[in-house]
Amino acid sequence: MTMPERRSALIVGAGINGLCTARELVLRGWQVTVVERGPLPNPEAASWDHHRLIRSHYAGSPGLAARMPEASAAWDRLFTDLDARPYVPCGVFSLSREPGDWTDRARAAFAETGLPHRVVASEDLSTELPMVEPAGVRYALMTEDGGALLSDRIIEGLVHWLEARGVTLLANRPVTTVDAETARVETPDGPLQADHLIVAAGVGLPALAPWFRRETHARRVAVVYADPPEDVRAAWDGAPAWVDLGGEDDLWGIPPVAGHPLKLGYGLHTRPGDPESERTATPDDTAAVLAAYQERFRGAERFTPVRTVANFYLMAPHEEFVLRAEGRTLWLSADSGHGFKFGALTGQDVADALEGDPEAVAARMRGAPLSTARASG
Ligand SMILES: Cc1cc2nc3c(=O)[nH]c(=O)nc-3n(C[C@H](O)[C@H](O)[C@H](O)COP(=O)(O)OP(=O)(O)OC[C@H]3O[C@@H](n4cnc5c(N)ncnc54)[C@H](O)[C@@H]3O)c2cc1C
Repeated sequence: MTMPERRSALIVGAGINGLCTARELVLRGWQVTVVERGPLPNPEAASWDHHRLIRSHYAGSPGLAARMPEASAAWDRLFTDLDARPYVPCGVFSLSREPGDWTDRARAAFAETGLPHRVVASEDLSTELPMVEPAGVRYALMTEDGGALLSDRIIEGLVHWLEARGVTLLANRPVTTVDAETARVETPDGPLQADHLIVAAGVGLPALAPWFRRETHARRVAVVYADPPEDVRAAWDGAPAWVDLGGEDDLWGIPPVAGHPLKLGYGLHTRPGDPESERTATPDDTAAVLAAYQERFRGAERFTPVRTVANFYLMAPHEEFVLRAEGRTLWLSADSGHGFKFGALTGQDVADALEGDPEAVAARMRGAPLSTARASG
């Protein structure tokens, strides 16, 4: 009796989405090759940093919020495989300052999805969130779950897991062209081909496909790692991550966890940019991010910047996740600045799309369009 041939998949891009897709396909018996243009892991991938937020606050998209329990369960399975739990479940909060603001809408999405959350009244802020400047805050919207996925450790763990299972991982092999119909790619070291191709090349997608050139753009985002001053340091003990501090400036970040300093994000400071030439963070980036936090956290005017990082993500229309089938290829960008948290689930989604109906999977990955500007996190 002859054994049926294993189906083969070639994955372009070793960020969280390419690696999680590789893992899922290995678990389903596929023969997998991953080709990455840089080193493995690649510090220039959108997925590379100490941590990424996972949170179920989703103001304009109850559809995505509703997927969070599934996303968390997918991470749990992945962590069991890795035999490690690179995740700090510190919880997440956002602040409301005006009726109808982002946090008010996130609260409505919680009500719609029935996901666990609680509301902290303004008079309780100083005990529950002692690092917050309470002036002008109506209430805080908190979840006990969510927090910081330790992304660099997850990426490294996945690379080792895949290596140990015989997956071919080709580093420093940039794909130059893609033939979607035949699932074949060209690289400077020759062509590669498989039964199916998944292109998860992040900000490299526009160079490979006209649709991504027309419809998406790379966004530059700078985050500042900083230390709070000594007199407010204790206020940060056990603090949750945040996804919005009220107002229109889209402030998000992660408290000091896993030996890393505070991480400060500032959505309004993101802009379209060139990933090839604008990777160096500038003093202006640091100053702009720190200035945005004045009067938001206690002692913010005395935060000491430790390191500023500039990176890029791929922004799609309506900040949605994109899965497009063409010939024997799936084009994948589950990003728009908020895709890491879904990574383990995206791997399952893509494998389902390969084995079933890509249109139906693409629809469930989109959730409902986000109604408000939300740059990252
Ligand atoms: C600063 C910042 C903060 C963020 N914060 C959060 C957050 O808190 N929570 C959250 O959920 N999400 C967050 N995101 C978004 C999240 O990081 C991304 O959605 C996710 O990492 C995208 O993963 P990816 O695998 O699609 O892309 P990437 O991680 O960019 O991986 C793509 C890979 O493809 C490779 N590649 C590109 N072109 C080619 C080519 N031609 N040939 C071969 N390989 C190629 C690249 O080198 C790269 O390694 C943030 C993003 C940034 C930049």
